[in-house]
Amino acid sequence: MRVVVIGAGFAGLACADRLVALGHDVTVLEARDRVGGRVWSQELIAGRADTVVERGAEFVLSGYDVMHEMARRFDLPVAPSGMSYYVREPRHAFAPVTSEEVATTAQDLQPTAEATDRTVSLRAFLDVHAPGAATAQVLAARAAISWAAPVDLLSCHVLLDSVASVQPLPTARIGGGNQGIARSLAAALGDRVRLNAPASAVHAAEDGVRIDVLGSTIEADAVVMAIPLPLLEGFDLRPGLPGVQRDAMARMVRGHAAKLHVPLGSPARTSAVLDVERCFWCWTATDASGQVQPVVHCFSGSSPALTGLDVARGEGEWLQALGALRPDLDLDGDGALLTTWDDDPWATFAYSGLGAASAPDDEELIRAPIARVHLAGEHTAGDWSGLMEGALRSGLRAADEVHAGSVHT
Ligand SMILES: Cc1cc2nc3c(=O)[nH]c(=O)nc-3n(C[C@H](O)[C@H](O)[C@H](O)COP(=O)(O)OP(=O)(O)OC[C@H]3O[C@@H](n4cnc5c(N)ncnc54)[C@H](O)[C@@H]3O)c2cc1C
Repeated sequence: MRVVVIGAGFAGLACADRLVALGHDVTVLEARDRVGGRVWSQELIAGRADTVVERGAEFVLSGYDVMHEMARRFDLPVAPSGMSYYVREPRHAFAPVTSEEVATTAQDLQPTAEATDRTVSLRAFLDVHAPGAATAQVLAARAAISWAAPVDLLSCHVLLDSVASVQPLPTARIGGGNQGIARSLAAALGDRVRLNAPASAVHAAEDGVRIDVLGSTIEADAVVMAIPLPLLEGFDLRPGLPGVQRDAMARMVRGHAAKLHVPLGSPARTSAVLDVERCFWCWTATDASGQVQPVVHCFSGSSPALTGLDVARGEGEWLQALGALRPDLDLDGDGALLTTWDDDPWATFAYSGLGAASAPDDEELIRAPIARVHLAGEHTAGDWSGLMEGALRSGLRAADEVHAGSVHT
């Protein structure tokens, strides 16, 4: 079968890779001049391999089996970060509180959350079950940051998610940068990957699919759309997505996030600190060498938090907030690198997740194929949505789906 995959992020590349292995004739169209999409690794100081930072996805979390498998296949080291993504020292809460106290409150609340309907928002849940507690304020900030969305949109079931866990589970990164996975997949695909090739329309008919790209048309038997959710919703796709599918997509929570990386003038130990009031966290971590990188990494999530840090006007306000949070670090503000995703035309947001408004069938609906058009991408990954692992898994699932269709016909 001739298959066109649109998008060379983790989802599209994993999909194309499996389709090739299954014997299909594959072309990958990528709008950018690089592969990886929301996985984007770069040296903060040019020529310094010890300053590679992740401008998008960073943490390899619990259960990332597909990502570990890819790392093994391409001989890329999975480097422990030396701190845990899950445990952050809370500062600037309305009352002093420790991460141990936060973990205890989270554990105490979990059985009640499990017994509560998932349509109850985290905000409403905490108001009822932990009113006025500083630990609840920290849990709310932590969830808003991690899901990059206000807690009134999130389900109380995020307290059960591994992503929102506050237990000291190990976390890692791919040595040399997570984008190494995308580069390796693309290298294996060779000239099947076309960069600077934005698809502008997909028209599916009974006998095939036509894909418009840069003024020409490619004919295929099937297409896999592996582009970010907001871009899919606005895409010239005919026939269009059915109304029920659009509604399910509209119910997804859309995360808005930014990152700030700042070189350090003096060595630091590993650390993870959460600014509860300003809704961002920062960390210093080891890389594949085992040494702590001379960099502090910061992440802020949710639109109100980004507005509060005034990221639309640059890194100034955030740098000041970081200086106040971490007087122990020797910040070199001149070398700071801010990355925003809302203004990136090939992303337009950070990532998505099923929220309090999501209905039980939404997960299935969102990824359902329409005729010869198949859907991949983190937003189609159900509980794995919003994550690199979800993107990879969605790509493999979409490839199997295309192949099963080809075997059928
Ligand atoms: C700031 C930030 C931090 C994150 N942190 C983590 C983390 O710590 N751990 C984790 O697991 N995940 C994290 N994520 C999420 C992770 O990055 C995503 O879930 C994952 O990378 C999405 O992959 P994807 O293939 O679905 O989409 P993308 O990576 O967005 O790939 C889609 C591709 O489609 C291309 N494209 C778009 N439109 C077109 C078109 N018309 N034609 C051709 N190509 C097109 C895009 O350029 C892009 O390359 C983070 C994301 C962000 C933004």
